[in-house]
Amino acid sequence: MTTIVIHNCDVIDGMGNAPRRGVDVVIEGSRIQSVEAAATDGAAQPGPADAVHIDASGKTLMPGLIDAHCHMTYGESMTQEEQDIFTSVEGRTLRAAWNVQKVLAAGVTGISQPGGSYFIGVAIRDGIAERRIKGPRMTSAGRYITTSNGLTDWYPDDAGVIEGGIGIRCNTLDAMIAEVRRQVKNGVDFIKLADSPFGDYQSFRDEELVTIADLAHQLNKRCTIHARGNAETRAAVLAGFDWIMHGNLLTESTVELLAERQTPLVPTLLLLEVWAEYGDLIGSPPFIVEASKRMLERTAESLHMCRAAGVKLVVGTDTGFAMTPYGEWHAKELELLMKYGGLTELEAITAATYNAGVTLNLENEIGGVAPGMLADLLVVDGDPSQDIAVLQDPARIETIILDGEVVDVDRDLESWSNESSMTYTHGYLTRDVVSAAGAGEPPAMPIVRTRANPIAE
Ligand SMILES: [Zn+2]
Repeated sequence: MTTIVIHNCDVIDGMGNAPRRGVDVVIEGSRIQSVEAAATDGAAQPGPADAVHIDASGKTLMPGLIDAHCHMTYGESMTQEEQDIFTSVEGRTLRAAWNVQKVLAAGVTGISQPGGSYFIGVAIRDGIAERRIKGPRMTSAGRYITTSNGLTDWYPDDAGVIEGGIGIRCNTLDAMIAEVRRQVKNGVDFIKLADSPFGDYQSFRDEELVTIADLAHQLNKRCTIHARGNAETRAAVLAGFDWIMHGNLLTESTVELLAERQTPLVPTLLLLEVWAEYGDLIGSPPFIVEASKRMLERTAESLHMCRAAGVKLVVGTDTGFAMTPYGEWHAKELELLMKYGGLTELEAITAATYNAGVTLNLENEIGGVAPGMLADLLVVDGDPSQDIAVLQDPARIETIILDGEVVDVDRDLESWSNESSMTYTHGYLTRDVVSAAGAGEPPAMPIVRTRANPIAE
């Protein structure tokens, strides 16, 4: 069993307590053994002589980040077709195994995958747990369970919902029950449902939500739901869902219900933010950029109410799109919770650590610097309680400890893209376009026509 002693660090415990200066932390095996005031010069130093000693004077020790919304099967996709159709199951699996390394290298020591194609997430999770693949601790759902009125049944009826897609269409209660049973048999940690894309209606019926939640719990599994609107969020909380994804458009009474039941909410602001702020840089369709801005404004109202009511907030990023590449933006979500929800730095850190434990099936065991907690930790050059942005700079994440061991990470891994689509071009080559070009005029803006949902997943 390895012992690690981290000397003279400043501790942010992830559990909301004020930072503690000058602390020695001893890790034995996979758990934290002690957190004590640093031994003074000449006094007996903690830990055995053969321990791994890390001098962290002037540096911060905090729990590793947990991202409760990270899709490893999406492969940094530029199109919806890329997530559902292109790239074989074998190709997607290899890419996911590559990309988890990038996530860990960013200081993210835990991820939860709320939906993805096939059972790739289950296999990657097991490969990491058995230490065949280097990646963060992981839990995974299977394909989203959805109806024809929720996410993922987006292709024409004659194309249907294909086998490689990220969702599975279940339009009857019997079909939903059968799919829960099939997914549990295949090793998922939790069930993910997808309600309406934009939250303008509730697509599942109340009794469907109750039945799915009850069955998942009976089989010792958890459940979560893509719920942007008020009605479906409320119905899912009442049905006993274990945490809620998004919750953009909430009323005061639903916020009170979330607080009363202590149902965690994962706002996933990052995807909206990158579209709203940077979509122009990468050619995102203007209507998506505008819709994201509007959704963020509404979300800020909901989020401020949530914070005031004491709703448990959890960091999730929707990493996995080309706008949210692996390892790139996870820690930005903490800054966004401050920007749109009014959280303090310490509250944002708690959302990314202790509060997120439930999504790893490890609540009260992970995400804290305290004796007995699992030792997934970061040594950070800087003080995130004063400047949250230091967590966004990989160079400042000096040491990553996962399950009680210092991990060696490669921060220069390249992207491994998927096959994207069979797009031939993005504009219409009319004679006017050609003659304008001949006259030296700038090319016409590409016309992008897409069915992709702007604020979908
Ligand atoms: Zn998502």
